Amino acid sequence: MIEGSSGEWEVVIGLEIHAQVISKAKLFSGAPTTFGAKPNSQVSYVDMAMPGMLPVINDYCVEQAVRTGLGLKAKINLVSVFDRKNYFYPDLPAGYQISQYKQPIVGEGEVTIDLADGTVRRVGIERLHLEQDAGKSLHDRRPDATFIDLNRSGVALMEIVSKPDLRGSEEAGAYLRKLRSILRYLGTCDGNMEEGSLRCDVNVSIHRMFEPFGTRTEIKNVNSIRNVIRAIDYEAERQVEVVESGEEIVLETRLFDANKGETRSMRSKEEAHDYRYFPDPDLLPLELDGEWVERIKESLPELPDEKKERFMSEYGLSVYDAGVIVADQEVAGFYESLAEGRDPKQAANWLTGDFFGFLNKQGLTIERSPISAAALGELIDLIADGTISGRIAKEVFELMCAEGKNAGAIVEEKGLKQVSDAGTIEAIVDRVLEEQADKLAQYKAGKEKLFGFFVGQVMKASRGKANPRKVNDLLKELLDGPES
Ligand code: ADP
Ligand code: MG
Repeated sequence: MIEGSSGEWEVVIGLEIHAQVISKAKLFSGAPTTFGAKPNSQVSYVDMAMPGMLPVINDYCVEQAVRTGLGLKAKINLVSVFDRKNYFYPDLPAGYQISQYKQPIVGEGEVTIDLADGTVRRVGIERLHLEQDAGKSLHDRRPDATFIDLNRSGVALMEIVSKPDLRGSEEAGAYLRKLRSILRYLGTCDGNMEEGSLRCDVNVSIHRMFEPFGTRTEIKNVNSIRNVIRAIDYEAERQVEVVESGEEIVLETRLFDANKGETRSMRSKEEAHDYRYFPDPDLLPLELDGEWVERIKESLPELPDEKKERFMSEYGLSVYDAGVIVADQEVAGFYESLAEGRDPKQAANWLTGDFFGFLNKQGLTIERSPISAAALGELIDLIADGTISGRIAKEVFELMCAEGKNAGAIVEEKGLKQVSDAGTIEAIVDRVLEEQADKLAQYKAGKEKLFGFFVGQVMKASRGKANPRKVNDLLKELLDGPES
């Protein structure tokens, strides 16, 4: 919702995502697809559109699209058609892109998004179709020339189109994160927005609640989730200003300038291309075998939503913790090893607290973590069996991060074992009470708040090593007398 000068406006968003298929070869040629290769080193005659070259469908890419469709709980169309989308641009040597138009391989589906306030919303998927990527124009090599790199030409993309079901930038961000997580679980797209394997066109409009949708604008190729959110916030505000000043929104394509944080007009839809789609005569309609689709369905991994449900029921995790942990498959796997045979809540707290903090600080992903689930588990075990206190454990964890040693060795070496021996603790308590005779008198006179102060002093005197529960019990006994 946006508060304009004339009342509230609802923001409506639909996203078109281009997701690069994980595949060693291109959609219609055998050329490789490695990211960052030398320009024009991964180009076959098909990709450069040499006369007489014919496309041959890569069935692995088809399988990836079907797998994605199934992961989006979508209808798989057993017959789909490849069309030519005609336009002229230097990075498109054939003069057309092979895409799917009226009959895409995947129809309607849905993605569930989890919002910060705990609510869950369903976002409709309109369709998913397969298409080729174009090449790339390089304008920054020489001031007087543009170069063309065709490495990307012909790489398989899945265009995933959402329904206009998103309301506001937060939902759009949640949708993108969730979709990326599902693609990564499925192993069909690496979701890397920096490398361009996930690109996003954002459609934005505003309207009054319960009234028809307004005219949308489309913001092309936004390259990070953060920028998607910024672009929507800017664009929605701009539209409110335009409409409230009595003017109309024009259907147009806009660009987001990340430096200025604003969108600007690129071309109006009137100048938009007429693509003259028609079925590609070089390719037969794509026919899938229903049993083959079934087999792919049976091979799908447990996806984030199901995993989240299971983590909540099996480990008793909160919606929030479960959501954070299942967002990344590696993290979820790490958690399951960590929780095995341990207190699951404790495991979740260490994982999402100190351990994530460490990874963030070091800029590491969990795959590259020098601290394994077993090593973190050892630390948790030392707390559970009373060898160290929770507070000392934080210290030990810091040392594990800094020195790369395991928890047991650090505790041994630095003499950090928790003191639970009654005699030793009693001696410390006695000394503290003696030193704090005036506070003790105040306590006896009724200032019961001071109890915490005594606990703190004893812990400090033991350099954090005294077992806090024992300290509490002993102090209670000494100060208040045995429980009746
Ligand atoms: P086009 O083919 O011109 O891109 P589509 O009807 O296929 O148009 O819509 C493309 C995207 O725009 C979809 O993601 C859809 O959800 C979104 N969209 C459609 N209408 C609106 C609207 N009024 N406001 C925001 N997004 C919209
Ligand atoms: Mg569009």
